[in-house]
Amino acid sequence: MKSLLNPDSVKEFMRLVATNERIVLTCHMRPDGDALGSVLGLWHLLRNIGKDVNVVIPDRAPRNLMFLPGSRDMVVFTQYDPYCNRLVDEAGLIIMCDFNTADRQGNLAPLIQSAKCSKVLIDHHREPDLNCDVIFSRPEMSSTCELVFRLLAACGWYEQLDKPGATCILTGLITDTRNFSVNCNNPEIYEILMRLLEKDVDKKYIIEEALNTTTVDALRLNSFALLDRLEIFTSHRCALITLSAEDLRNHNYQKGDTEGLVNIPLGIRGIVYSIYMREDADCIKVSSRSKYDFPVCDICKDLFNGGGHLMAAGGEFIGSLEECRATLIAHLGDYDSHLPSHLPKIELSSVKQNYDWNSH
Ligand code: 5GP
Ligand code: MN
Repeated sequence: MKSLLNPDSVKEFMRLVATNERIVLTCHMRPDGDALGSVLGLWHLLRNIGKDVNVVIPDRAPRNLMFLPGSRDMVVFTQYDPYCNRLVDEAGLIIMCDFNTADRQGNLAPLIQSAKCSKVLIDHHREPDLNCDVIFSRPEMSSTCELVFRLLAACGWYEQLDKPGATCILTGLITDTRNFSVNCNNPEIYEILMRLLEKDVDKKYIIEEALNTTTVDALRLNSFALLDRLEIFTSHRCALITLSAEDLRNHNYQKGDTEGLVNIPLGIRGIVYSIYMREDADCIKVSSRSKYDFPVCDICKDLFNGGGHLMAAGGEFIGSLEECRATLIAHLGDYDSHLPSHLPKIELSSVKQNYDWNSH
C-alpha cells in the first residue's frame, strides 16, 4: 500500500500523540457509520498504546450503530454537557473526525472550537475550514475510516490495532461505500479490507448490524415513504421524498430509522438524483444522493446551507417542510445543465398519476 500521507504531517501527529496523555476524539452530529467508526477505531487504538482517551459526540448515535465496540463508552454532549466540558478542558489533544466545518458539530461546536489545546483533523470532505495543528484532508478517499487506517499504518501501529478497533474501521468503510458499491474503485481499499480481515473482524456481522437490521416500525415507515411520499420530477430526473413530523410520529420514528431510504429511488431507471427531506424538531434535514457525477452537493450548498460530497450530500433548512419542498422545486431547473444528455425514459404507472410531477 502506498503511503499517500504527508510524512511531515504523520510525524507531527505522532509527536502530538506521544506528548499528550489526555486525548478527546470527536465527530459530527447525527453521526453515521464512518463518523463513529473513525472515532471509535482510533479510541481502541490509542487506548492500546496507553493513552487516556475519550470519545465526545454532539448527539446520540442511531441504534443500528450501537453494536460498535466501545459505543456505550462514548460521552454524548446532549446528555452529559458538564462532563464533556471537563473532558475537553483536561485534554491536551483533540482529534476531529469526518467533518470539515465547525457547524457540523451543532451545539458542541463552541466547546471544541474554543479549546486551547492541540488539534488534529482527519476527514474526507472537500474544503476543510477548521483551525488545526495538523490536517489530514483527503476528499478522494472512500471514507474517513480509510484515512484513519492509512494513518495508523503510517504511524507503525498496525500491530496494536485489535479486533474491536478493526471492526469500527471496517464499519465506516462498509457504510460509506454502501458495502463496496460506490467510491471503491481504488484497488488499495481491498488491501485495507484484507488487513482488517486479518484482525479476525466479522464482516458479515457488521453488514448485518449496520445495514440489514431494522424494526417493524422502521420498515413500515420506509414502505410508507416510498408508497405515499415519493414524487418523481421526470424532466429533472429527480426523485423527492418528504416526511413530516406527523408521518414520523405515526410510525414511532427513532433516530436512524430512515437511514438508506434516500438511496432507494436512485435505483429507478432514468433517475439521476434523489432527495429526502425529514421534518426534525430543530430543522428540515435534507439528504441527497446522485449518479453520473451529478453535483447534489451544489444543491445542498445553494439551497440548504449544507454540502458534502459530489454525489452524497446533505443540509438543513429552517422553515416548514412545505417551504423546503417549494424551494427545491423552484430551483430544480437551475441544475438541469448537469444532467447527462442521453438517459432512458422514466416509466410511470398511470394508476398513481397523483404522485407524478411531469409539469415541473
Ligand atoms: P447523509 O445524507 O448520509 O446525512 O449525509 C451524506 C453526506 O452529506 C455526509 O457525508 C455529509 O458529509 C454531508 N452532510 C450531511 N448533512 C450535512 C449538513 O447539514 N451540512 C453539511 N455541510 N454536510 C452535510
Ligand atoms: Mn464519511
